[in-house]
Amino acid sequence: MLPLGHLSASYLLTKLSKKLSLKEILLIVFAGFVLDFDIFIGVALDKSHHDLITHTPFGAIIVWLILVLIFKNISSFAKLLTLTSLILHLILDEIGYWFYVLKFQTIVNQPQISWLYPLKPLFNRSVPSSFCSIGSFIWLYLNNAWANVLLEIILFGAALLILGINYKNSRINK
Ligand SMILES: [Zn+2]
Repeated sequence: MLPLGHLSASYLLTKLSKKLSLKEILLIVFAGFVLDFDIFIGVALDKSHHDLITHTPFGAIIVWLILVLIFKNISSFAKLLTLTSLILHLILDEIGYWFYVLKFQTIVNQPQISWLYPLKPLFNRSVPSSFCSIGSFIWLYLNNAWANVLLEIILFGAALLILGINYKNSRINK
């Protein structure tokens, strides 16, 4: 999934509670896309960033522990939503493969996440040559991962709608 979908999904997650502070909301949204910063490591190692430790539940828990150590004074529910946001990222990255299995789209023909790491080894795949630039990857994605793209549009639309409603309500309450 592209960052826009992750961003939208994690924003929607923050709507599960009305009691979150702005700092907590920003942390949960940040947790929704922070794992993708490993793309730079993936590029350096010439492998898919989905095959790095950071894109496993084990890695997500380590990232979560670091985040809750840095942001100590947040509520327990915000900590739980931060972890949920990290795991949701992995689910949304894997969902393309499930869409492929269900024949909703023609790409992402391999599992994306090593769910059982470290009990099972990480996948070790190099990046396909068709993904050699971000531009060509996005082009391939938009043309072939239709179910993914539809899901991204739905998530973004829902996030935008709720953001708009919240903004309108905050102006009415002033
Ligand atoms: Zn990812």
